[in-house]
Amino acid sequence: MPLDLDSLNEKQRAAVEHLEGPLLVLAGAGTGKTRTLTYRLAHLLEQGLASPHSILAITFTRKAAAELAHRLESLVGDQAQDITATTFHGLGYRLLRAEAHVFGYKVGALSVFDATDARRLLQRALKEANVNSERWDLEMVAQTISSAKEQLHGPDTFVTTPNDFFQESIGKVYARYQQLLLEQNAVDYADLIRLTLALLQQKPEALAFYQNLFRYISVDELQDTSAAQYELVRYLSWAHRNVYAVGSPVQAIYSWRGSDINNILTRFQRDFENAPLVILDQNYRSTRTILDAANHLVRSFDYPDKALWTENEPGAAIQLVTLNSEREEALFIGRQAQQWVTDHNGAFTDCAVLFRTKAQGRLLEQVFMQLGVPYTLVGDFRFLERREIKDMLAYLRLLHNLDDAVALQRIINRPPRGLGSATLQKIQDGAPDFALECLYGLEDRNDLSDKIKATGKKFLDLVLDELYRAAKEKPLPEFFEFALTATGYLDWIAQDPEANQRLANLRTLQGMTVRFADHGAAGLGNFLAELATLSDADVSEGEEGIMLITMHAAKGLEFPVVFLAGMEEGLFPHVKSTRTANQLGEERRLAYVAVTRAREHLYLTHARSRQLGIDTRENRISRFIHDIPSELMERRSGAENPSLRLSLPVIQQPDPAEPALLVEA
Ligand code: ATP
Ligand code: MG
Repeated sequence: MPLDLDSLNEKQRAAVEHLEGPLLVLAGAGTGKTRTLTYRLAHLLEQGLASPHSILAITFTRKAAAELAHRLESLVGDQAQDITATTFHGLGYRLLRAEAHVFGYKVGALSVFDATDARRLLQRALKEANVNSERWDLEMVAQTISSAKEQLHGPDTFVTTPNDFFQESIGKVYARYQQLLLEQNAVDYADLIRLTLALLQQKPEALAFYQNLFRYISVDELQDTSAAQYELVRYLSWAHRNVYAVGSPVQAIYSWRGSDINNILTRFQRDFENAPLVILDQNYRSTRTILDAANHLVRSFDYPDKALWTENEPGAAIQLVTLNSEREEALFIGRQAQQWVTDHNGAFTDCAVLFRTKAQGRLLEQVFMQLGVPYTLVGDFRFLERREIKDMLAYLRLLHNLDDAVALQRIINRPPRGLGSATLQKIQDGAPDFALECLYGLEDRNDLSDKIKATGKKFLDLVLDELYRAAKEKPLPEFFEFALTATGYLDWIAQDPEANQRLANLRTLQGMTVRFADHGAAGLGNFLAELATLSDADVSEGEEGIMLITMHAAKGLEFPVVFLAGMEEGLFPHVKSTRTANQLGEERRLAYVAVTRAREHLYLTHARSRQLGIDTRENRISRFIHDIPSELMERRSGAENPSLRLSLPVIQQPDPAEPALLVEA
């Protein structure tokens, strides 16, 4: 079916028909930026100007990348499968996997360490760097190194003030940490951006190759790119300058994580001098009432995309609902969603609950479970943190990258096979770390018992022979099945008191490998890469149901019915983000993002008192509500609703030890 450009408004159409050269689309929420970007790629393909292989589309989450590919497929068919739609981290992984030999890595089998693995390695680096390891706080060291990476400082440029004791000490740890990563053929999350940029900056042939490969580049959500991510785009697009960037300054919500709003406000047009600017101002997503409320929230900014209009109907009033407690709030939302689904013959997936902190999501989850309301909790990594999941992933990682000692150490004695820590130490014989090499040549050693030698050899055979061969030969889901049995893991887990749950989790993980079945031997690497570069917005748990999601992770999404929970001072704006005008500005933009996710119905709920950890707080209503004209809202008290007085067993409160502010998206 040919593309219907008549379904676009004039400005959108101008953007879609801009096929060569740089372009910046700067526009507020729901104006069709993502839709326009998709149409323009389809148009490029349809016109035969670009081959799918020459298109790189960078999105903010994997889910958005999948969505983009899916929408393109419905517009232009199968050829959409060959475009590269990915996140910055996904792109980094793809380039580094092919090119990291430049930095001394082995080609092909690169591991990406998650925060837990990286922390383990850092701990070792701290010990080995001769800096009085017990005097330094690991968390602080980790933070310092990761922010250095964000600012593109490698160990060689880390020390900026010579003889500064702090810098020199952490610099040594940083250098050792990078060495250890290299030994294990691994990178951490921040390296995916830093090293990729270093590659393009330092290797002209690599730069030219990727510039010629990706002749057409598009970037969604430009307002939330970091300096390094922006530089990646600039480098990659510099030769052909076909870069199509869209974003919304009034929705910039990630400065706390290193994003720089100036990329969209000034830098892009300065760097790509003749880039035309398209400003879209018609919103298609929301009712006029919801859009009015959103416009009011951001009145005080002077961003060019802040004031939008719509031809949509006024629609229903925004419901402002007061509840007595956070529990009542969760009950109200659950019941209201059930009601809406019944009344409108709708689906739970049409509804979403957005909140500021992750702890709110867990509370909602518990109440929804009790109510029997289907839900999907987004941004919860607990699944990937489970022991059996981490174990099987460690097996897979080891098979993918035999140098991955962190993975090896995790599973070498799981299930127990006589390779406990005392035995490993004997085998290791003073080597700084237990790597697979420690098991080589055991038979020639006369300091080990025959039993140890045999056990070690058996494990080595399992990995290098049985599993390694199967990994090369079998499609990923089959290999997964094979590994479960061959390692003895399945039998071992069967004796566990939580056997059923653990097995079910492993089957879920196996289900996730199915998409990689036809990738051949590359399936394993691609699967691990996908898991390693997931963001909060990509991880979800629970059945298909009402989405429970942080405001940050909801960026770019839309739902007919949206509940904003916890509209209270201290929670939103969050107490930790009210110290400076910049922080408050960002909270306000977040409020705008949250409100503009709603298409038809918007509920703002707040609780008179809320338990946070062991404290009960009486929070005032959020200042953001006062910015919405009262004629747009209808006030309700949830307590009028008898169903809320339903007696349900008291549920556990969020763990007080957990920091209240958990907002990574
Ligand atoms: P956000 O800033 O939240 O990411 P956006 O600008 O990317 O929003 P889209 O998600 O592309 O906006 O579009 C918002 C909604 O409006 C979508 O449902 C989209 O299909 C619809 N839409 C966009 N343009 C048009 C149009 N010209 N005609 C009809 N519907 C449109
Ligand atoms: Mg969008």
